[in-house]
Amino acid sequence: AESPAEPADPLIELSDVEFGYTAAPVVENISLSIAQGEYVAIVGPNGSGKSTLMKLILGLLRPDEGSASLFGEPSHTFDDGARIGYVAQHASASKEMPITVREVVKMGRFPHVGFGMLSADDHEIVDEALATVGMSDFANRRVTQLSGGQRQRAFIARALAGEADLLVLDEPTVGVDAESVDAFYDLLESLNDEGITILLIEHDLGAVTDHAKRIICLNREVYFDGPTDDFVESDALARAFGTAATVMGET
Ligand code: ADP
Repeated sequence: AESPAEPADPLIELSDVEFGYTAAPVVENISLSIAQGEYVAIVGPNGSGKSTLMKLILGLLRPDEGSASLFGEPSHTFDDGARIGYVAQHASASKEMPITVREVVKMGRFPHVGFGMLSADDHEIVDEALATVGMSDFANRRVTQLSGGQRQRAFIARALAGEADLLVLDEPTVGVDAESVDAFYDLLESLNDEGITILLIEHDLGAVTDHAKRIICLNREVYFDGPTDDFVESDALARAFGTAATVMGET
């Protein structure tokens, strides 16, 4: 914790991780490393452990076996939350308080100013973040009045205002109208081009293979981890999803 991680160091490193909520592990033999600037999607059928893996990565769960680190620190002691922008599923945002887009984005500055007032510079950063996600014209709109895609952009702007260098998105296009999905992925791509690391949990395999550069295919264990093009040509998809096809059909 004394010296910050070098850019070349992995942002995320999992080594032989195993975890179960009860005695039976729901993820096991997980070793992976994600470097700054990557654009990675975690795919897998329902119940394959995607959310559990994300929680292990973010330090919200501790491995039963093995180790997890974030920005070079054990994940469970990492507490510089501003470095991570988390965008939850649209559905879970419906209970959000009726605050405006600008207020949401200003929250991104809070870790940087403590309980103090936002300075002119902070407000400028907020305005820039709104512009980057194309939401300047909606700054005074209440979040509850936004479309799904606009709402996700507002939460991305909050992360940008916080100067996050890792953006974690959990099925971000659930509830987003089809016409807005492509533009949403274009935004992620441009953020990635600027060096922001993107980690995506996604159910929509088409969207993932079109946009992510690296795929981690999970079904309790890692079935595939590599470039997206190799994944498309591999049989990992059939192997990982095959046994769970009935589970997917049921939900
Ligand atoms: P995914 O995100 O791929 O759908 P999850 O990580 O949510 O998968 O779940 C993996 C497995 O762990 C599933 O069998 C699920 O029922 C179980 N599980 C998830 N969360 C809990 C929990 N809080 N307590 C007990 N079991 C859980």
